[in-house]
Amino acid sequence: MHVRTLARGLTAALAVTLALAGGQATAAPSLTEDRALAPRVLTYDASASAEFKAAVDRGAAIWNESVDGVELRPAAAGQRANIRVLADNGWPRALTTSLGNGTVYIGRQAVSQGYDTIRISAHELGHILGLPDRKPGPCSSLMSGSSAGTACKNPYPNTAEKAEVERKFGGALLQPALRSAGAPRNAMILD
Ligand SMILES: [Zn+2]
Repeated sequence: MHVRTLARGLTAALAVTLALAGGQATAAPSLTEDRALAPRVLTYDASASAEFKAAVDRGAAIWNESVDGVELRPAAAGQRANIRVLADNGWPRALTTSLGNGTVYIGRQAVSQGYDTIRISAHELGHILGLPDRKPGPCSSLMSGSSAGTACKNPYPNTAEKAEVERKFGGALLQPALRSAGAPRNAMILD
């Protein structure tokens, strides 16, 4: 089925669902609202992440595999990025300026103690995506971070963490239906 036809059907279905949920008669979302349902794209600049560049790219890819409402893309050279990722000799941390924006430090102190670099990267990016620490916690939780111990290599957010990010970026409504119908990842609704 052509994406556009699918999108129209889904948009109408979405309008009905929203109307039923809210009990109000609402018009089908306008073109700009349609576009708002596409994943929000955040760029990241890992040019100063030194030996951790591959781990940072993997951490970003893991978030892209895990959620639909937001997509992390490497910034083009010279492009101002939403997220800057740097390496330093301290402890890993994320300074979030607003949802989706901020600076991440991949700190060598944790790496030298044996913590996994991909898990660290995905965890710190999780903070920029709006998630707080959940410490102490199990290895199955990404945001339990170092409290899960050095043996924990899990870099994937769990179901609750994914749902929380989807809620913050509004991606939970349309994208999964588009994806399951075979539409490309960032299918835009064109009218
Ligand atoms: Zn943390």
